[in-house]
Amino acid sequence: MEKRGSSQLIDMLEDQFYIYKKEVDWSALREGFSIPVSTQIVFQEKIKSYIKRGEKRDINIILDNHTYQVKLINQIFDEAKYPGHSDIVQIRYSPQSPFVIKLREIFKTSMDYLKEKRISNRVTKLPRERREYIVLYTTQHENTFFLDHITNSDSNQIRKVISGMREEDFEFESNYKKIDDSARIEAKQQVIKIRRLDKAVGESLKLFYNYKCQICGVNFSERHNCYIVEAHHIESFVSTMNNNANNIIVLCPCHHRIMHKANPIFDKRKFIFTYPNGFEENLILNKHL
Ligand SMILES: [Zn+2]
Ligand SMILES: [Zn+2]
Repeated sequence: MEKRGSSQLIDMLEDQFYIYKKEVDWSALREGFSIPVSTQIVFQEKIKSYIKRGEKRDINIILDNHTYQVKLINQIFDEAKYPGHSDIVQIRYSPQSPFVIKLREIFKTSMDYLKEKRISNRVTKLPRERREYIVLYTTQHENTFFLDHITNSDSNQIRKVISGMREEDFEFESNYKKIDDSARIEAKQQVIKIRRLDKAVGESLKLFYNYKCQICGVNFSERHNCYIVEAHHIESFVSTMNNNANNIIVLCPCHHRIMHKANPIFDKRKFIFTYPNGFEENLILNKHL
């Protein structure tokens, strides 16, 4: 990937960008969680200028319109043993901090479930059908982050709203439309949350690949000075609700149209698309799948 100045990277972003979608588990509802930064190029750049390895800092987290204070820690580790390893960043809080009390209130169902299961059989994670998430975004302010929560009931609501929607229409909105934050109705808010996440993951991947198509490597942004790559879900989002980065690739509009018209089968191990006529095409750029 070509080098870009970190300030330039951050200038290109709108007001907030995606950092991490985290499954709620026992530790997150007690004391904190790690943020894997290995594929999050923008966050890595930002962290480097903000908090050095071995340092910790008070930060603000906006959660449901309230601001809470927690600690951001860039853990020190044996650099001789792990040369070139990316930073290990953690968000930490005390088990009685107002922030985690609020989290437990939001994720009460998960908290009750984990409390019970942990005692009987040491379970600290939620089973697939019960999964709930916290999603972390940056804001324009250096020491302030934004935290969204996606509960099981949110996921069910969203599933209802988008079922029957055409995948291309769903993706078009995530790629090209501004997320409407003004909506007030409950169901709409849930759709906004998932759209914000979907858009943010896509945008961070576009940036990660420097606006090049992962199949043909073409970068229109350089030649024509416009950003037109699109985020595509390998497994259809409207049927799987999967917008993890490992289900999203970045494509030029041409390859994106081809995907939806021809419906090739993707080999997840070899990173090859096989089209119905037997033609094979592989990802020439891939650092995140
Ligand atoms: Zn392409
Ligand atoms: Zn698509």
